[in-house]
Amino acid sequence: MDVLGKKERRGRDVKGLLKRNWILIATIASVILGIGLGVLVRDYTSLSQLEKQYFGFPGEVLMRMLKLVILPLIVSSMITGVAALDSEVSGRIGLRAVVYYLSTTIIAVVLGIVLVTTIKPGVSQSTENIERAGSTPNVTTVDTLLDLIRNMFPENLVQACFQQYKTQRKEIEPSKTNTNTTTFPPFTTIISTVAQNLTQDYKIVGSYSDGINVLGIIVFCVTFGLVIGKMGERGRILLEFFDALNEATMQLVQIIMCYMPIGILFLIAAKIIEVDDWEIFRKMGLYMVTVLSGLAIHSIIFLPLIYFVFVRKNPFTFTLGMAQALVTALMISSSSATLPVTFRCAEENNRIDKRITRFVLPVGATINMDGTALYEAVASIFIAQLNNYDLDVGQIVTISITATVASIGAAGVPNAGLVTMVIVLTAVGLPANDVTLIVAVDWLLDRFRTMINVLGDAYGAGIVQKLSKQELERIDLISDVDAANPFALETTLDDDECEKKSYVNGGFTIDKSDAISFTETSQF
Ligand code: ASP
Repeated sequence: MDVLGKKERRGRDVKGLLKRNWILIATIASVILGIGLGVLVRDYTSLSQLEKQYFGFPGEVLMRMLKLVILPLIVSSMITGVAALDSEVSGRIGLRAVVYYLSTTIIAVVLGIVLVTTIKPGVSQSTENIERAGSTPNVTTVDTLLDLIRNMFPENLVQACFQQYKTQRKEIEPSKTNTNTTTFPPFTTIISTVAQNLTQDYKIVGSYSDGINVLGIIVFCVTFGLVIGKMGERGRILLEFFDALNEATMQLVQIIMCYMPIGILFLIAAKIIEVDDWEIFRKMGLYMVTVLSGLAIHSIIFLPLIYFVFVRKNPFTFTLGMAQALVTALMISSSSATLPVTFRCAEENNRIDKRITRFVLPVGATINMDGTALYEAVASIFIAQLNNYDLDVGQIVTISITATVASIGAAGVPNAGLVTMVIVLTAVGLPANDVTLIVAVDWLLDRFRTMINVLGDAYGAGIVQKLSKQELERIDLISDVDAANPFALETTLDDDECEKKSYVNGGFTIDKSDAISFTETSQF
C-alpha cells in the first residue's frame, strides 16, 4: 500500500516537473534534433543558396517575434522600474549595478589575458596559414566612443526605435596649393605632394544605421520614469499605463516561448547547413579552446562564487533557473533578443524582485558583456601572437582597458564584439585587418559568449537585489502603511489570495505575486 503510494507520488512529481518545464525540455530536444537534421540535410541533399534560406524560415520567424517585443518591454520595464523607486534608491541600485558590471567585466578580461598568455594559441601558427573571411569593419575608437554618447541622446525618439547614429568619415579633397611650376618642375611636384599629405583631412558625416538605439531609449526611459515617479497623483495614469503594457508584453513573451522549440530547431539546422568550412575549426582549435575555457571558468567558478559570497544561496540552482534564457542566447547570439526570456526566467524561476529586474536587466543586456570582454582580450592577444608581436605590460594594460570599453560599446546583437575588436587592435598598433582571420569561427564563439553575457546580467540582478534588500523592504513598508489609508487606490486579492498592490497615493509598488501566473517554464 505504502509502496504503491510512494510510486504514485513519485509519478506525480515527475509529471509535475515535466509539465512545469516542458518548454525548456522541448527547447533542449529541438537543439539536439536541429543539429541532427542539419547534419542529415547537409550530407544527403545539395540545397541551393535560395533553398537553404527558405529552410531557415521558421527560425527567422522566431527571431522576428523576439525582436518585436524588445521595444515595448524595454520601455515599459525601465519606466515602471525607475518610477517604482524614489530617485535616491534608484541611484543607489544603479550604482551597485554599475559597480557589479564593471568589476565582473574586468575579472573576465584578466582571466582571458591569463589564459591566452599561458596557452599561447597563436604562437605555433602564422597569419598565412589561416584563410581570411569577411571584411574589416570600418571603426575608429574616438568615433565609437562619441557615438555611444551621441546615441544616449537621440534627436528623435521615434527614429531611436529603429535606427541608431553612426559616424562615417569622409576624406576631404586636398586643397590645391598654388606653386610656381615654371622654374623647377621636379621640385614643384615634391612640394605639392608634401602639401597634399599635410592638408589631407576628414570630415564627419552623420549617418544612421538600422537597429534599435537601446541606449538612447534606456536613458530617456530612466529620466522619464524618474520624472513621472515624482509627479505623484498626476503621473499615476502614465505609470498604470506602462505597468499594464509591461504585463501584456510579458504575456506575449509567454506565447512566443511556446513557438520557441520549432524556431530553434530550424535556426540551428539552417546554420549547420550554411557553414561550409569546417576545416577552419581544426586550425583554430586551440584559440577556440582558450576562449571557451575562459567562458567556462568565468561562468562556472567566478560568477557563481561572487553570487554565493553576496547572496549565500546555491548559485547553480540560480543558473538552472536561467536555463531557458541561456539556451535561447546560445541559439540566437543576441542578448537583446534574449531579453524577454531573461526577464521571464529571472522573475518566474529565480523570483527576483521586478523592481530590480526591470532596472538591471535591460541596462545589463546593453552594457554588461563579460563574455564579449573576455573574448576581445583573448582574440587581440591571439592576433598579436600570430604576428609574432611582443606585447609589453603597458600594451597588456591597454588591451584590458580597451577590451572593457569595447564590450560596453558592443550592441547586444550577433557579431557585435567582432566589430568593436578593431578598437582593441588599433589601440596597441595591431593590424585591424587581422580581424578577418577570426571571422570564420566567430559565429560559434559568439553564441557561447552571448550565453555568458546573459548569465552575467542575471547574476547581477540577483546580487543587486540582495544588496538592496533593506531599501526595497522600506519601500514595501511605506506602501503598506499607505495601503491602510482610505484614499489608497488599489488593493485587490486575486484567486490565490495573493495581494497585488498598485499605485498607492502616488507611491508605486509592483505586485510581487506575479500577474502572469500560468508560466510553465523551468521551476527548479
Ligand atoms: N552577440 C553578443 C551579444 O549579443 C555580442 C557580441 O558579439 O559579443 O551579447
